[in-house]
Amino acid sequence: MSLCKRRGFIFQSSEIYGGLNGAWDYGPLGVELKRNLKNYWWRVMVQERDDVVGMDGSILTHPAVLRASGHLEGFSDPMVDSLLTGKRFRANQLEPQQGWVFNFIGAVDFDSFSNLIKEQNLPERSAIWSRVDLAPLLRQVFINSSCHIDDRRRTGYCHLPNHFEEQKELLRGLIAQRIFSASSLQPFSAMEIGSDRNVVRMSDGRHFNPAIVVAQEFYKKRDIRNPVVIMTNPQWIEHSTRYDPENGSLLTPPREFNLMFKTRTGPVEISEESLMTVSAAGATGPAAPLVTTNPRESSALTAGMSVTPEYTSTAGTTDEASVAYLRPETAQSIFVQFKNILEVSRKKLPFGIAQIGKAFRNEINPRNFTFRSREFEQMELEYFCRPEQGMELLEYWKEERLKFYENIGIRRANLHVRDVPDEERAFYSKGTYDIEYDFPFGRQELEGVAYRTDYDLKQHQHASDKSLEYFDDETKEKFIPHVVEPSAGVDRTVLALICEAYSEDQAPNDKGEMEARTVLRFHPRMAPIKCAIFPLLKNKEPLVVKAKEIVGLLRPHMTVFYDESGAIGRRYRRQDEIGTPFGITIDFETLGEKDPKLRDTVTLRERDSMKQERVKTSDLLQLLSMRIA
Ligand code: ATP
Repeated sequence: MSLCKRRGFIFQSSEIYGGLNGAWDYGPLGVELKRNLKNYWWRVMVQERDDVVGMDGSILTHPAVLRASGHLEGFSDPMVDSLLTGKRFRANQLEPQQGWVFNFIGAVDFDSFSNLIKEQNLPERSAIWSRVDLAPLLRQVFINSSCHIDDRRRTGYCHLPNHFEEQKELLRGLIAQRIFSASSLQPFSAMEIGSDRNVVRMSDGRHFNPAIVVAQEFYKKRDIRNPVVIMTNPQWIEHSTRYDPENGSLLTPPREFNLMFKTRTGPVEISEESLMTVSAAGATGPAAPLVTTNPRESSALTAGMSVTPEYTSTAGTTDEASVAYLRPETAQSIFVQFKNILEVSRKKLPFGIAQIGKAFRNEINPRNFTFRSREFEQMELEYFCRPEQGMELLEYWKEERLKFYENIGIRRANLHVRDVPDEERAFYSKGTYDIEYDFPFGRQELEGVAYRTDYDLKQHQHASDKSLEYFDDETKEKFIPHVVEPSAGVDRTVLALICEAYSEDQAPNDKGEMEARTVLRFHPRMAPIKCAIFPLLKNKEPLVVKAKEIVGLLRPHMTVFYDESGAIGRRYRRQDEIGTPFGITIDFETLGEKDPKLRDTVTLRERDSMKQERVKTSDLLQLLSMRIA
C-alpha cells in the first residue's frame, strides 16, 4: 500500500479531507495499469472473437430493472451495530461467543447517588430521606442491593438482585420525582466475553468488571457524565452473536441492509422532510449511526428497536418516479438490451455481450485496500447459449478465464478454482466456480463464473411484458436462451497484479555493491511504462539528442519514460520499483565514438534478469513490440 501511494498507483479518495471510506483514486501509474488490464480483457474477450460483441450501458438504472432482477428485494446483507461505538458488523460474519452477561436497567448520576447513600444514616439531615413520601420507597429500592461507589473515578454500580421488576417501577417513580440530577432508564447489556463460568466478578477490588465499564461508557454517551449503573443478576450465555466482539457491548438486532445506492433524477422539489431522506440515501456506509445522544431516539432503539432507520425510508414528499439506482453490477444492462443487440448484431447462439464499467455497492465493511470497495469496476461477459450447452460452456469459460490470468502474469499456482456448493449458490444457478487468488490477506475471489440458466432474461421478459425470446432459424424453435457469465473485478485484478508482481531482491549499485531492491515484476503486457530511456550523461548534447530521437521512435507505439537525472543505477532502480520491464541507455558507443561498428546501437536492459544486450536502434521497435504484445 505504501509503495502504491509513494509511486502514484493508488491514493485514498478525498485524502486531504480525511478520506472517503471504500473509494480509491488511481494515480498516473495506476491508471495505466488498469487500462492495460481492461484493454487486454476487451481484446481477448471481444475483439479477437467472432462470437462476442460489446456494449457500454448507463450507470443510472431504472428501479424496474432491479426489481425484476431481484436486487431491490434481495441484494442485502444482515448488519448489526454496536450500541457502544456504533461500529457496524455483518451479522453472518460474527463468531459465536460465551460469557457472563450483565443486564442494566439504567443509570443515575454519581453525585446525587452517593449523597443518597451517605445520607441514608442521617435521615433527619437529609432533604430526601426526611421526606415521608419518599423514604419508604427508597428503602424498598435499595434493600438487599449491593452498591459499589468509586469516589476517585466518580462512578460505580448498584446491584439489585431480587424482584427487580418491582424495584424498577419504584425507581422509575423516584426518577420522575427528580431526586437524581441526571438519570436514564434505558436498558442495556454487556458480556464479559470469555469469562469463567464458575466465577462471577463484579470487580476485583480495584477495577470494575469490563462489562460494567462498558455500561458506564454507554450511559456516559447518553448524557450522564458520571454514571452509577443499576444492574440485575448476571446470566451465563453461550453461542451468542448478540455482543460486540471487540468490547462486549450489546448489538442491535440484525437488519437487512440493502447494498444499493439510491439516487434521484431530475429537478426534485425538496421539502425539509425529503431533504433528510435524500441526504441519508446518498450517504455511504453506516448511514444512520445508532448510537445517539438524543434520549428519545436512543431509548426507542434499545427498547424493541422499532425505529425505522432513515436510510431504508423512502417516505417523504419526493416523487417516487424520480428514483434511480447506481447499478450494483454491469450485467443487468446487458440482459435488458439483449433484444436490441441480438437484432443489430445478427448473432446466432452461442454468442456473448461484454461490458466493462463501474458498479456500486454500499459494502458494510470496505476492507483489504481496494479488494472490497464501494465503487469498483467490473468486466463481465454474458454468454448466451442453448440450454443443453450451459454446463459445457461453464467448463469452457472457467478454463478460458484461467488462461487469461496466466497471460497477464498471475502464476497458476496462486490461482484456485472453488466449485461453489449447492447451498451457497444462487437458487437459479446450475453451477458456479469462483476463481480465487492467494492475496496476502488470504485466498479470496477474483472472479465468478456462473451458469445462470435463463433466470435473468425470463425475469425481465415477465416484468416488462416484452418478448426476450430467440428464434432459431434452423429448428424453427422459439425459446429464452440460457447464459454463462464470467464476471471479474478490475480493481481486484489490479490488486492481484500488484501483489503478484511485488518482490524484493538484491541488485548491484553503481559501485558494484549489492543492495536491496524493490521490484514490481509485471508482465510486460501489463506494465504501466514499457520502456525507460536514459542518456548516459545529461550534459552531453549528442547523447541527449539521440535519446530523444529514440523517445520519438517508440512513443507512438508504447508508454515510454525519459529520465536523464542521477546515476544510471539509481535511474534503473526507480524504474524497477514501478515495474518498467525495459531500460535503454544511450552511451558513447551509440555515437560511434569507441567503435564505429557500435554506432546506432544501445544497451537494452531487462528488469528481472538485469541482463544487458547491445541492440541496433533500428531493431528496437520490433523487438520491444513483440515482447509487450
Ligand atoms: P464477494 O462475495 O467478494 O462480495 P460477490 O460474489 O458478491 O463478491 P459478484 O457479485 O459475483 O461478487 O461480482 C463479480 C465480481 O465483481 C467479483 O468477483 C469481484 O471481482 C467484483 N466485486 C464484487 N464486489 C466488489 C467490491 N465490493 N469491491 C471490488 N470488487 C468487487
